[in-house]
Amino acid sequence: MAARAATRNLRIGLIPGDGIGREVIPAGRKVLEALPSSLGLNFSFIDLEAGWGTFQATGTALPERTVETLKKECNGALFGAVSSPTTKVAGYSSPIVALRKRLNLYANVRPVKSVSTVPGAKPVDLVIVRENTEDLYVKEETTRTLEDGTKVAEAIKRISETASKRIGKIALELALSRQKIRNGGGISHHSVPKLTVTHKSNVLSQTDGLFRETVRAVYDAEKARYQGITYEEQIVDSMVYKLFLIPSDYDVIVAPNLYGDILSDGAAALVGSLGVVPSANVGDDFAIGEPCHGSAPDIEGRGIANPVATIRSVGVMLEFMGETEAAAVVHRAVDANLAEGLIKTPDLGGSNTTEEVVADVLRRM
Ligand code: ATP
Repeated sequence: MAARAATRNLRIGLIPGDGIGREVIPAGRKVLEALPSSLGLNFSFIDLEAGWGTFQATGTALPERTVETLKKECNGALFGAVSSPTTKVAGYSSPIVALRKRLNLYANVRPVKSVSTVPGAKPVDLVIVRENTEDLYVKEETTRTLEDGTKVAEAIKRISETASKRIGKIALELALSRQKIRNGGGISHHSVPKLTVTHKSNVLSQTDGLFRETVRAVYDAEKARYQGITYEEQIVDSMVYKLFLIPSDYDVIVAPNLYGDILSDGAAALVGSLGVVPSANVGDDFAIGEPCHGSAPDIEGRGIANPVATIRSVGVMLEFMGETEAAAVVHRAVDANLAEGLIKTPDLGGSNTTEEVVADVLRRM
């Protein structure tokens, strides 16, 4: 008799946060619980607090217990959304930004895939891998006053070999795992994986030059491993033009922090609704899946929040936990729901509830 693969016990931290985060994170949990037992995964869950509601109740948006539990007890996590106060509130700061720092989640990964039933939607199946720790966002700014009394403000743009190397590696590995999922029957127009390195080294030859050269060196150093990946480099301005004209040309895009930030939101506009765009915050040994949308107070409590972004975030989290097969099951089920286009929430022009969409995805798993 063939030996059965050992069961893997995986503990997932659930941080719903505020608003519709509390409606979509339970959907993510249901999807994990419904994965076929043949995959040999045994999930357990732990509920954790963070967000504006938590701040109002306890005076901190990110309790120490949440951080410590994630660090010591969890293999991965799902984060819902947080409401932000409309005016500056003393002592309040974004818990997800703090979590990224505390857990050293240096990559922000944003897959964008078109919903085929949205009229006029172009075929899109790409992912933006954004470096999340340096570049212009090191926030080292100064303002000085010239002799004539006018002001000049300056900011540091820092690019390091270490950060560029690890983000390049994540992007290349992601190109391989995405291809593995496609080969296993995933829906996509891509037949081979591709990496596009985004830069502006024709002007910023030192900083963006280092980013470009370092990512290329990661690719060159493991030619055998990455030989199936088409490698290209593009200057960010012409790349944006092409991205909006022919989005189907892109698979994995890797970018320094600032360009990655802009590209991530821009690319999300290529598909139907914020309710379908997932993300993951990724480090060397931990990943937090997080839908891109906010807490959507306008639809909170009505049971109509689109759970697709969260379900896809479950898939991306699983990819980074090395559970490619499980990730493929999740992505295939959600893609099939969208491709058929019958059971969908109002943001996609449907009339179904969150629960009904979840039930349809579970049925397809
Ligand atoms: P926040 O202050 O938390 O960022 P927001 O309303 O300003 O909240 P989003 O939550 O991102 O920003 O919402 C923007 C719009 O998209 C809202 O009209 C919201 O209802 C809609 N939306 C966002 N997420 C979803 C979703 N999962 N399902 C359906 N509609 C959504």
